[in-house]
Amino acid sequence: MILKGFEALKTFLAKPRNIVIVGHRNPDGDAVGSTLALKLYLDKKGHKATVVMPNEYPDFLHWLPSSDTVYRFDWQNSQSQKAINASEIIFLLDFNALHRVGSDMQNTLEKYPNDFAMIDHHQQPDDVKYMYSDTSICSTCQMVYQFIEMNGDVDLIDKAIATCLYTGIMTDTGSFRFRSTTSKTHRIIADLIDKGAENDKIHNNVYDANSYGRLLLLGQALSNLQIFPEFKTAFITLSEAEKNKFDFQKGDTEGVVNYALSLKGIIFAAIFIEDKEQDIIKISFRSKGRFSVNQFARNHFNGGGHDNAAGGRFDGTMEGMITSFKKLLPNYKEELNSSYEA
Ligand code: 5GP
Ligand code: MN
Repeated sequence: MILKGFEALKTFLAKPRNIVIVGHRNPDGDAVGSTLALKLYLDKKGHKATVVMPNEYPDFLHWLPSSDTVYRFDWQNSQSQKAINASEIIFLLDFNALHRVGSDMQNTLEKYPNDFAMIDHHQQPDDVKYMYSDTSICSTCQMVYQFIEMNGDVDLIDKAIATCLYTGIMTDTGSFRFRSTTSKTHRIIADLIDKGAENDKIHNNVYDANSYGRLLLLGQALSNLQIFPEFKTAFITLSEAEKNKFDFQKGDTEGVVNYALSLKGIIFAAIFIEDKEQDIIKISFRSKGRFSVNQFARNHFNGGGHDNAAGGRFDGTMEGMITSFKKLLPNYKEELNSSYEA
């Protein structure tokens, strides 16, 4: 755990400030939940906080309280730049390095004259002035709760803040099932329910909001599954043509990789998604036990993340992607066969 400049940050926030809060590119439930929760909390403390996201996030997160106040850096560029220019500090939430916002926004942030405060749970964070980094915590939302707790402000958590925090903890823990879900996580969740988070509604809004197209896309993804039992590995592919056939919307592929990991005996899963716009194959990796997909993604696919959930990219075709991946597997045979005891 790194806690740097906390007292100085407290002093800085002792008077009302103009604040911008940023999440990573392609924000997920934890990024959107944590940035909105922090915004609502800081506003309650008398500050003026604005959330600026690098790009769009999925429909199933748009119902979150205050979601309508979020600026998108890519298509609300002038409002976003204005907010950044007017701010006295920028909070970086749920990411560890500036390049995770994408190159356009990264350029702007690199020129930022004031200080950054990072709250994040990813490995190997960039060094910024104020930092709360803990890779053992399941979600940035749990860290925002603990940040509020460290400030002695748990009583300020209302239904809206509780709803945002619950959502991010739920999505980043795979609904409270990953190893990172601790007794402390459950105590925080219990408190968030006491403060008004409606667990059934949140679950329904996030997980039972599928379009028909999304289910058909899932069917396609599952029929593309390839399994390699000798490496306890499985992967799924989705081409641009398949995405188009089923009217792909942002967020439609979220969680699909977990179906590969749900196979009995599989401990390493991947999904390769063709992205013609960026001309890359976007990759998600998941694993069980000691096999670090963070390391695997860093070593081979320009990526990173956590030990059991990471992402990366491949500059080339789907065929090239599959060939490279299959070529790597034998190098990891022993590790894959000894990293998880069921
Ligand atoms: P997902 O597979 O859900 O997109 O991402 C899983 C985890 O890996 C997330 O914590 C995310 O921040 C991280 N991640 C995903 N893609 C990348 C990437 O291209 N680079 C890095 N460094 N991390 C990534
Ligand atoms: Mn997260």
